[in-house]
Amino acid sequence: MFSCSRLCVSWLATSFVGVFLFSGCAREKWYKGNTHTHTVLCGHADSTPEAVVEWYHSRDYNFLCLSEHNQFIDPKTVSMPENRRDDFILIPGEEITGGRMAHTTALNTRELVDPRLRQPPGASKSRVIQAHVHGAEAAHGRAILNHPNFHYMHTADDIRPAEGLHMFELYNGHPAVNNFGDADHISVEALWDQLLTDGMLIYGVSSDDAHHFQNLGSERSNPGRGWVMVKSKELTPDAITEAMYRGDFYATSGVMLSVVDVSEHSVSVEVDARETEKTLSSAYVVGHAVDEGRTGYTIKFIGERGTVLETVNGTTAAFSVKGHEGSFERK
Ligand SMILES: [Zn+2]
Ligand SMILES: [Zn+2]
Repeated sequence: MFSCSRLCVSWLATSFVGVFLFSGCAREKWYKGNTHTHTVLCGHADSTPEAVVEWYHSRDYNFLCLSEHNQFIDPKTVSMPENRRDDFILIPGEEITGGRMAHTTALNTRELVDPRLRQPPGASKSRVIQAHVHGAEAAHGRAILNHPNFHYMHTADDIRPAEGLHMFELYNGHPAVNNFGDADHISVEALWDQLLTDGMLIYGVSSDDAHHFQNLGSERSNPGRGWVMVKSKELTPDAITEAMYRGDFYATSGVMLSVVDVSEHSVSVEVDARETEKTLSSAYVVGHAVDEGRTGYTIKFIGERGTVLETVNGTTAAFSVKGHEGSFERK
């Protein structure tokens, strides 16, 4: 059980938002990775598995999952770069692509997820999501529910009942997934607040869902837009996946943190301004225009129903947990 809920760090008025939900974590090393990307094997992306691996390897990522639609890409079949770094791995997996627009990354699986679990006949949206979670687990992996606002298909009522689901995509770099909602639909961040307020222990993941590596453009699903920083004792598929399942990571679309200190009574965070400026100078990172804001960093601690508990303008902030901020239980 954890108290308090989440924090949000944004930069400038165009909000490159790094959002973080915490659990207790020991002093370990941070690893950068992307859990969701595509290759020519799906028929609508433009690069081979090897070219996709090269893109991430050459940009200092530490891990990557080639999450193809309903296809299991065994990392053993993918040629790694000749100059492969010791601190770069592939995590096996797939994107279970099923009925009711439910797409779920099955991370660190050993084989193809049972196709019968993609879209059980006549199943409701909740039951499809649950089938995906069970399918990922049966293949010895963990589930991340992807882009819930794709076609605005999944509401909190659809997601909340899923047992064993503790990760979902808070941010997805594909231009068609409606991360920020519209006049008639809530943002994924607001959806997250609903789930957390209801007591669901669910962590926010940020991913690329990249399909287009050849040409850059806001209408394309390019890589480098969203990633996770995972705190883990070692860089192996098991260690990274289980660290994420425990919540020992943060999701970002640009903001980088140098300190994340969580105890039962307090949360401390410090933005790594130099590293953040470096990542934001990348042509691949995209922002989201907001109507108001001011130059600099804003750190918000957010509680039940999206209530802002504390706001700090600057690169460091600490929050004292009072004990009435809300709590979660894993089910
Ligand atoms: Zn998808
Ligand atoms: Zn995808």
